[in-house]
Amino acid sequence: MDKKVEDLLQKLITKVSLYNIEGLSQIQAAFEVANKAHEGQYRDSGDPYIIHPLEVAIILTDIGMDTATVTAGLLHDVVEDTSVKLSELEEQFGFEVAMLVDGVTNFSKINFSNREERKLANNRKVIMGIVKDLRILIIKLADRLHNMRTLEYKQKNQKEISMTTREIYVPLANKIGLNRIKNELEDLSFYCLEPEEYKKIDSKVKREQKKISYIECIKEVRENLQKILNDRKMPYEIKIRVKNYYSIYKDLLLEEQDIEETRLSTIHDLVSFKVMLDIIDNCYLMLRPVHELYKPVNGTFKDYICNPKPNMYQSLHTTVYGPKNRQVQVQLKTFEMGYVASFGLIKHWNINNQKERARMQAYIKTQYPLYDSILELDQAYGDNNRGFVDHLKEELIAITVINDDGREIELPVGSTVVDFAYALGEEIGNRLAIATVNDHIVDNNYILNDQDQVRIITNAIGGPKPEWSTYAKTAKAQNMILKYTSEKSL
Ligand code: MN
Repeated sequence: MDKKVEDLLQKLITKVSLYNIEGLSQIQAAFEVANKAHEGQYRDSGDPYIIHPLEVAIILTDIGMDTATVTAGLLHDVVEDTSVKLSELEEQFGFEVAMLVDGVTNFSKINFSNREERKLANNRKVIMGIVKDLRILIIKLADRLHNMRTLEYKQKNQKEISMTTREIYVPLANKIGLNRIKNELEDLSFYCLEPEEYKKIDSKVKREQKKISYIECIKEVRENLQKILNDRKMPYEIKIRVKNYYSIYKDLLLEEQDIEETRLSTIHDLVSFKVMLDIIDNCYLMLRPVHELYKPVNGTFKDYICNPKPNMYQSLHTTVYGPKNRQVQVQLKTFEMGYVASFGLIKHWNINNQKERARMQAYIKTQYPLYDSILELDQAYGDNNRGFVDHLKEELIAITVINDDGREIELPVGSTVVDFAYALGEEIGNRLAIATVNDHIVDNNYILNDQDQVRIITNAIGGPKPEWSTYAKTAKAQNMILKYTSEKSL
């Protein structure tokens, strides 16, 4: 066996053994099947093809995925690229694995008149994965991540692949809270799509990190945090993270600042101290000593513990004036919240447990407006793959709007007051009277912006006005308006 293949196989075995020893024999069997099937095939990099499914399986074990998912990761290109049939996989590995492999298998070339059509159909299939079984989407994300890591070897379509990554895979990873993969995919596509801008940010960050004031600031804040925590005898772990490059770039663009001129130290959360603690109470308890030590930047405090993000992200955020008035962000969260911050829904529920997985899918169904949109658009567009994908891309670009009770609601760009009211609930939508945005009364077709503060005032009775259906952008709001009107006409 090729040395590189052998090393990777060993790496996979070691990683699986650490958390899932019962799954090991099936995973090894899947490797044998995949290795034999891909024999004689090579990647653009010149590597034996099997390297790719092996790397995908390793990414999946890194995020702690279950046996069926890792097995399917190894087999994910077998049906598409070799003579092995899905029925043979089902016979050897069972229905679940076959279902997952089927979910990530691209449509065969022969069914499409051109490449573009096939690509759109495949993108549509990835998006449907979130509705069908989240694990399908996760295998696709791991597959895309390895392809993006090795993009430089790809002879064609680098930009196109990166654009799809940015427009579809990154927002999907973000939706399910898989931030570790989201950040890497985002920066890899940034590198390919805007190489000049990427290099500017890269050199700025590296220059910043070499500054003595930066190094001293990090050292001092860390030592002071450690001292506070040690004095209180709390179990803890501190991690330091620097914002990913594309997020820095977007911040600078948003401020319309010249990338060359701007000092990175103006970004309030460029550097974050992630302080992980054992229990929730200690997160709140730590807030006072932190704010006494370094003055908080008023207006930056966020309580995502009581107001979790839809992707289950929880943490307290506060930005403080650190040494030399450098702003640093301090995040206070439990160890568990720390895992969810990196891996999202699949760590909030236990992905390895079937009942928990069902609860996770149910959560997606009831809490994500995107779920209804996907089903709705799937119906509406029939076999128009382009229509489906283009519409979904828009729905994936989210803004966060804040309700007057403090709840943060994610909505697609272009959403109106009507969409927001229905996102709060069917009743609230139906009885919407007027709304204020940032304390000003607005029309119900007002298009909301990111971070708008909205207050909905309802009527005791009422129902959607006929013109609302043209105001509604989300499938959820449109459906509810339709539902009300059709029930009334009965
Ligand atoms: Mn692949």
